[in-house]
Amino acid sequence: MGIRTGAEFIRGLQDEREVWLGKERVKDVTAHPLFRPTIDSLARLYDMQHDAAYRDVLTYRSPTSGQPVGLSFLIPRSRDDLVRRRQMIKTWADATYGMMGRSADFLNTMVMAWAAKSDYFAQQHPECAERVRRYYDYCREHDVFLTHALIDPQVDRSKTRAEQADPYLCLGIVRETRQGLIVRGSKMIATAAPFADEILVWPFPPTLTEAEARYALVFIIPVATPGLKIICRESFTKLGHPADHPLSGRFDEMDAVAVFDDVLVPWERVFLYGDVRLVANLYVGARIREMTAHQTNTRFLSKIEFVYGLLCHMAEAIGVHNAPAIQEMLGEAATFIEIIRSALLAAELQAEVDPSNGVMYPALQPLQVGRTWAPRMYPRLMEMVRRLGAGGLMQLPASVEALDSPIGRDLQQYYRGAHISAPEKVRLFKLAWDLVGSDFGSRHLLYELFYAGDPSMLMAGFHREFDKRACLARVQELFSTP
Ligand SMILES: Cc1cc2nc3c(=O)[nH]c(=O)nc-3n(C[C@H](O)[C@H](O)[C@H](O)COP(=O)(O)OP(=O)(O)OC[C@H]3O[C@@H](n4cnc5c(N)ncnc54)[C@H](O)[C@@H]3O)c2cc1C
Repeated sequence: MGIRTGAEFIRGLQDEREVWLGKERVKDVTAHPLFRPTIDSLARLYDMQHDAAYRDVLTYRSPTSGQPVGLSFLIPRSRDDLVRRRQMIKTWADATYGMMGRSADFLNTMVMAWAAKSDYFAQQHPECAERVRRYYDYCREHDVFLTHALIDPQVDRSKTRAEQADPYLCLGIVRETRQGLIVRGSKMIATAAPFADEILVWPFPPTLTEAEARYALVFIIPVATPGLKIICRESFTKLGHPADHPLSGRFDEMDAVAVFDDVLVPWERVFLYGDVRLVANLYVGARIREMTAHQTNTRFLSKIEFVYGLLCHMAEAIGVHNAPAIQEMLGEAATFIEIIRSALLAAELQAEVDPSNGVMYPALQPLQVGRTWAPRMYPRLMEMVRRLGAGGLMQLPASVEALDSPIGRDLQQYYRGAHISAPEKVRLFKLAWDLVGSDFGSRHLLYELFYAGDPSMLMAGFHREFDKRACLARVQELFSTP
């Protein structure tokens, strides 16, 4: 089959999935007015794979069929492969201005990382490794779009999974059958779940005690599996004139909670289960984080380039771009771009082949710098948009359509910028408000804070893992030097 078109992606979503938006069960997500704009944005990414202008960047030849398949499935075996992967990810991210954190390339990358280290799964049983490889092939050849849900519902974080009053608050195994595992419980937050073909599940954070074998399970099933409910948050999609909501009108990824009511997971789709040690160590042991961090840093780079560009336009629009204080702020924003870009390049430059599988892994530490700093950079960038936009973020008509109304002349006169017309200034500042002030924008701030996990734990983990020996030795050296 190979790469899908946007139309094929959309048809694939017209199934029996159980998606809830408020009290409405959405019969066909592709026909829902609040979902359709995002689905169209995702479909465009699939169409880009067929466009001669992007085909070579976005696809490569399938090792099995020889047909073009998505390049985010490429298992990197050289630095050049890593560069090609980054270029692919960046091209898709740029097409959505970095606003789609969970575009298909994110989980394609995770499934690719699993397949690259399928031997990890063989520790449970050689068949598990086979399943991983078969699933990876299936995903690649069918251009599958996955979401994932790893976190337990936020009820009482002072208790472990096993200590919760309801043993199936957190997703767990109810029983084994000849067909597979019956699972019950809930997982959050599955971004893009209504738009995904399949859902990948495993417990995170990977704290599992010996008493928690029931919760040690790693599987992937179709979103349209009987008994699986997808409960969406409020939609942040804004209908109406596109210039009023240039981002929220197109890119609301949607976030959801997945509820499993005694769902059958066929054995073919169970990759690990019951072994707390193996499941807990999966993320680190199978070297998943190097690969996914390469993707997430690249997507973040695209987004902050866009934000910096917006800040520069805003400064010019109101004639403050030459003020030293504003330039200092813009300079700080530009350093963020350079830090993330440098982290990516450093990770590729220091990439090494893992002798166990011949796969080229980007260096982890520089990528973790990107991961730990994104939750600090993004709120700061949003503060800059507010500081720079100031009252201009409120000096906006309810709709750009007002420019063509009886008050249009007033708007032309009072809503223009230093060197730009009122329609241009209004459009620019509407974009800024959508990014920083809308419910969509607020969600993006939350996303950048938490998408890679709890930011404080990430930073603490960086310290714990950091190779401190040389730094400690320097201090000892001073003491031992007469
Ligand atoms: C917009 C968005 C999209 C997301 N998309 C996905 C997705 O696609 N797939 C997915 O699997 N997950 C997704 N997530 C979930 C994300 O991984 C989690 O939000 C993140 O790991 C933090 O976990 P939590 O939300 O359960 O916070 P909690 O663990 O409940 O933490 C809440 C607060 O309590 C603090 N805290 C928690 N435990 C302790 C402790 N022991 N000591 C001190 N402080 C503590 C935390 O620091 C935090 O400030 C998404 C989250 C957001 C916000």
